[in-house]
Amino acid sequence: MQGDDPDGSGVVGLAIRIDDIKCVLKEEERRRLAQAPIRPLVMAELGAHSGTLSRKFHEGRWEVTAYERNPKAPLHATFAAAGIGDKVKAMDMRNIESLNHCDYAHVSPNCLSNSVMSLSIHKRKEENNYEGVTVEAAEFDATVSDVADILAQAKKSNPAFTFTFEQPRSKEARNNTHIKARFEAKTSQLCCRRATFDLCKFGSRVRKRTDLWCHNLDQLVDFLGSEEDPRFICSEASPCWMKQNGGDHDTVRGKAKEYTPYPTDLVTMWKHIVDASVSSQRTVPK
Ligand SMILES: [Zn+2]
Repeated sequence: MQGDDPDGSGVVGLAIRIDDIKCVLKEEERRRLAQAPIRPLVMAELGAHSGTLSRKFHEGRWEVTAYERNPKAPLHATFAAAGIGDKVKAMDMRNIESLNHCDYAHVSPNCLSNSVMSLSIHKRKEENNYEGVTVEAAEFDATVSDVADILAQAKKSNPAFTFTFEQPRSKEARNNTHIKARFEAKTSQLCCRRATFDLCKFGSRVRKRTDLWCHNLDQLVDFLGSEEDPRFICSEASPCWMKQNGGDHDTVRGKAKEYTPYPTDLVTMWKHIVDASVSSQRTVPK
């Protein structure tokens, strides 16, 4: 700031205040961000099946790729009908391409070997460290390990990378050595917080209690809650829409392969919160 010339000597004092500099720098930063190109955010859904989550992100103008290996999965028809069939890629969970370009990935590997309905077959028990005895159980564990490697690579490439990893709530998944080591250990670079919620609380006809390991997405965990801090857990004290009306949940017993899509109310909030959590990345070029 230029001072006055009080003694008429012609020497002008220069008084600069730190706050003024900060103010100028802040204004510069604002101008720089205003001029930065805004890019679309990028999302991948792995094991998309019905694709309700990636559809919602697509509507929110994210660049989306939905990976699904089952050619009969519902998303093939719904995405094609919406004119976005090119967003679906057939891919085995064990053979995923790099996610380094992504801002957010959602991973939902086939969970049959963790399912309550097939425990007698896969025998994931404390005695065998929950590793089970079947090829399917071993394959699931290898998938978790491969997926974690790919997520770790994406995180290395983009420190702001975020992801969620979903499994139906079960003690088998919670005790899975790979999930614990890669997503729960405080020392893991992929360390997550786990949310737990029931689908019926978002309007689904089935309860389907769901665990969601969330990396770098505190707002999502705070919103969804957990069994210790329930927000969307169906109980006598806090029944869902069906229980409130004297009804009962639809059962998935005997239909283990039938998939339950995420309800619309859930994916709407989910997308909104992830969007808010990573929106600053829109001005970070890829
Ligand atoms: Zn319920």
